Parts: sequence; structure tokens; C-alpha cells
Amino acid sequence: MSGLNNVPRIHALPRELADQIAAGEVVERPASVVKELLENAIDARADHIRIDLERGGITRIRITDNGHGIHPDDLRQTLDRHSTSKLSEGGALQRVQTLGFRGEALGAIASVSRMTIQSSCDDSGQGLEMQCSGSSIEYVMPVAHRAGTTVEVRTLFFNTPARRKFLRTEWTEYQHVQYVIRQIALSHFSTGFHVTHNGRKVMTYPAVSADYARRVAAIAGQEFIHKARPLDYSAAAFHLWGWLGDPAIARNQSDRQYLYLNGRAIRDKHLNHAIRVGYADRIYPGRYPCYVLFLEMDPALADINVHPAKHEVRFAHTRDVHDFIHAAVADTLTAGRVPEPAVAGDGSHSAKVAQEINTVEVRESGGPLPATGSLQTQPAQIRAVLQGRFLIFEDAQATILFDLQAARMTLARQALAQVRAGHRVVQKPLLLPVSREYPRSMLDKLEDRLDMLAVIGVDVVRQAPDSIMLRQLPAFLEFADAAGLFDDLVAALDRSAACDDDIDEIVLGHVNDRQGSLTHEDLCRIIDAIMQTEYTGARTPPVYRRLSADDLLALLGGR
Ligand code: ADP
Ligand code: MG
Repeated sequence: MSGLNNVPRIHALPRELADQIAAGEVVERPASVVKELLENAIDARADHIRIDLERGGITRIRITDNGHGIHPDDLRQTLDRHSTSKLSEGGALQRVQTLGFRGEALGAIASVSRMTIQSSCDDSGQGLEMQCSGSSIEYVMPVAHRAGTTVEVRTLFFNTPARRKFLRTEWTEYQHVQYVIRQIALSHFSTGFHVTHNGRKVMTYPAVSADYARRVAAIAGQEFIHKARPLDYSAAAFHLWGWLGDPAIARNQSDRQYLYLNGRAIRDKHLNHAIRVGYADRIYPGRYPCYVLFLEMDPALADINVHPAKHEVRFAHTRDVHDFIHAAVADTLTAGRVPEPAVAGDGSHSAKVAQEINTVEVRESGGPLPATGSLQTQPAQIRAVLQGRFLIFEDAQATILFDLQAARMTLARQALAQVRAGHRVVQKPLLLPVSREYPRSMLDKLEDRLDMLAVIGVDVVRQAPDSIMLRQLPAFLEFADAAGLFDDLVAALDRSAACDDDIDEIVLGHVNDRQGSLTHEDLCRIIDAIMQTEYTGARTPPVYRRLSADDLLALLGGR
């Protein structure tokens, strides 16, 4: 069994087969055809797109745009693999501005369907029509057509029965197509979309110029936009904007999650995770938040050419992107919600009960405190989180109201006391270091005193003669507003009389700047840590109290 005659020889695949193989990756179902054709229309700078579907797109998809059209001499070439007008020789892949660039969609779609393309590049009313059937061009001839392009795809997978069998019901395919249309319409506000299904008008999204919320309302629903929190957050290399759905409308599937990277819809489990963690305990396990979010960043730092359909991304710095998104979501959800000490001001029963925790001596309510460690809780037993601050959970004997801010303050005091007693300090690098410029003479004077901060884990370095940078904070300050704290500390150091007590006071004043959002594990960790803490009397704010039947009724909105 040896010898040249027995060695299999290499040859190029026939085009039809090669295209069908490519189609395997690009064309999964009618929705993938719709996605590719819509992206082409948008790349052609259309501002109006009409989509006509039959039987969920299985028997017919026709997309008409008013974009720049296809040059008559290039019409046949649209089918050739790796033929594109979007990347030129020497054009950098990292810099593509268009949705398409691989030059394989039309060829792949044609190879598994009956496809007709009509296109015109001017207002003459004249254009060209090309008809294909499974990769072979049947004819090209003149046709009356307005400026723009119409692509019609009939009987998808007519020549690949195995794939045809994988199609679901008309209804299911139609749901997928709808999702793709919404996804694209949500990120292309200035393009109008008009959709028919089986001859009936089903969706119309007029172009909007500035009123993006209107398009979002039309697509994601009035209920979504009505209670959504607008988000707009930039840091260093990233910008994230959009809307976060109210936790109350979280769903049992992820079908209202729209995430875009530089205008392109993506699915990325790291980023989805970052958003989910940002919502933290506001959403029950197993439910999915609704959101419409646009991430913008330097395209050179995100590789979208990971998958032929381009909905996966590879980031140069996944962790940074993750942390940035997490922080943006968590901050937005907590902003404006921080209950001031006058929490009872809103008059609600829960607020009143919650406020009492700060006025009632812990030892006086509900009998003696349980001995250290006897208060035990599991994540699933946390019943509610009020105003992002108060937890309600049960231990073996009672229902307990727990003040997270007071808990953090208690833990911070304890950590600070330990640091001052010479224990090692646990630090956390800042996701976004804070830089500040000051007169050189002031920094010269200040530099020696930075050691006063270093001992408690506040890590500040002199970056340049006239600037300093805050890089790390002790872990117990993870909810501090780093910039505000930094400014206060520098101001204190600048007063020559500042002592350690002044610094401690400033630091403790920043423990609860941000509400932050915590996972159930985090909450349990805090509860456990509190249980390990000795009750130290007046200096420690009351952290929790047991709820009487009356308290509970009040919390539930009763008497
Ligand atoms: P890609 O979009 O990656 O370039 P496609 O196979 O989707 O590859 O399309 C091939 C080429 O056909 C495009 O580069 C573009 O020049 C042309 N084309 C496709 N659809 C349209 C359209 N609707 N309007 C104008 N040109 C189009
Ligand atoms: Mg394309």
C-alpha cells in the first residue's frame, strides 16, 4: 500500500461545493440571510429598507434598499468568494467601518437558494437583474429599477435537503427573523424599516434623527423604555451608553438583551456576565435583565473576525472591558437611589422601618444578639433588598433587617483599626487610576507625606513633577468614590498639621460613597464577617435588628 499511485492528491473544490461549505457557516436559517442582506443594505448607506417575507422567510425573503447600488460591471462578481467593495488592498482589517468585509455572504446564500439581484446606481430607472440558482448564474438582463438594490432569496436550502430538514416551523423561523430585524433596526436609527410577512404589514420603524428613545420604545417596548435607566459612561478607552431595563421587567429568557460593539450586534458571554453581575441581587437567579447597550471602543482592540457571522468578538483586554461594563451598569443602577439618613422622608412603611435601624439600639430590639456565628444564612434565604441598602433575611429564629451601609462601615472601622495596629493591609488596584495635577512646589512639599497614606493601603505615586496618581485603595474602600477621596486626602495632607486621625476620618467618610452592587456571595460574606465582629458599642452603628410581627406587616405595606 505504498507508492505515488496510492497517495490521495490535492485539488481545488468545485465552486459550488466550496460555496456550500462556506454557506454552512454563514447561512444557518432564514434569519441569517436576512442579517446578511440587511447589513449589505446598510453598508450601501440606504436610509430606507423594505423587507418582505413569506412563511417566516423559508420560501421568500426580499429586501429592497435605496442605497448606492451595485456597479453593472460588478454584478456577477458579487457572488465570488472574497470579493468585496469594502476592504481594499492594503486596507487594514482592524479599521473596517462597514458591517461586511469578508465578501462571502452573497455567494454562500446563492449556493443554497434561488436568488435574484436587481440593482441600479442612478435615477434613470434602469438597472440590471441577475438570476441564480444554486451558484450558477441563469441570466443577467436589463430591468426597471430605482436607485438601490433588491435581493430576493427563494426556497432556501432547496438543494441541500439535510439542512432544510433542520428548519423549524414557520413561526419559529419568523421569530428569529424578527429578532434580527429588531437587532439591526435598534442600532441604525437613521434608517427606516418597513416589514411585511405573508403580505401583511408587520413592523414599521420610521427613521429617527435625535429621538433615539422613540426607536427603542418601538422595538423594545413602551414598558421597557418607560422605566429604563439611561446610561452614559466613559472611561479611558471605552464608552458605554444605552438603556438598562428595570429589574422588575426581567424575563425568563434572554430575548430582550441587545448589546452592540461599535454599532454591530454581538453576543459575548463575558460581557453578558458583566452586565448580569452589575444587576446583582436586583434580579432573581435564573431571570434575565433587559437592556439596550452600545459599547464603543477603539476597533483595533476588538477582533470581530472570529466567526463568519461576526457576532463573536475577541478583546485584547477582556478583563478591562468586563470590569468597565460591570462598573458602568452597577453605578447607573444605584445612582440616585442612595438613601440619605433621612430615608423616612419618602414616607413609605419600609423606609420608616428601615430608618429605625439607625435609631433603635440593637440590643433593645428583639432580645439579645445571637452569639457570634450563630446567625447563619444561605444565599437563597435573602428575601429582599430594599433601596439597595437593606437586606431582609431569616436565620433560624427570626426575620432580620440588615443594613449594608452600616455593615460596611463597621467592617471598615475594624479593618482600619487592624491596619493601625500593624496588620497587613489588603489592597485592590483601581480599575481606572485617578490622576491629578498640582503645582510642582506643592507636590514637592507633599511627597514625603504620601507615606501617611501608604501605611493604610492608599497607594499614590508621583507621576511627573506636576502630577500624582492614585493607583490602589485598601479593599475596605472598594465602594469609595476614588476621585473624591483622593481630592480630600490631598487637601488634608496639604494642611501641614494633618495627622493620622484626620486621615482616618476622611477615609471612613468615603466608605459608602457608592451603593455598589453585590452578588449573593458578597452579601453572605459581609453577613458572615459581621457575625465575626464583636459588638463594640457606640462607635459602631447598629447593623441589624430582628423584625417583630408589626415591623413585618409594615414592610409588607400593612399597618
Ligand atoms: P461583503 O458584504 O462582505 O462585502 P457580500 O457577499 O455580502 O460581501 O457582498 C459582496 C459585495 O456586493 C459587497 O461588497 C457590495 O459591493 C455588493 N453588495 C451586496 N449587497 C449590496 C447592496 N444591497 N447594495 C450595494 N452593494 C451591495
Ligand atoms: Mg455582506
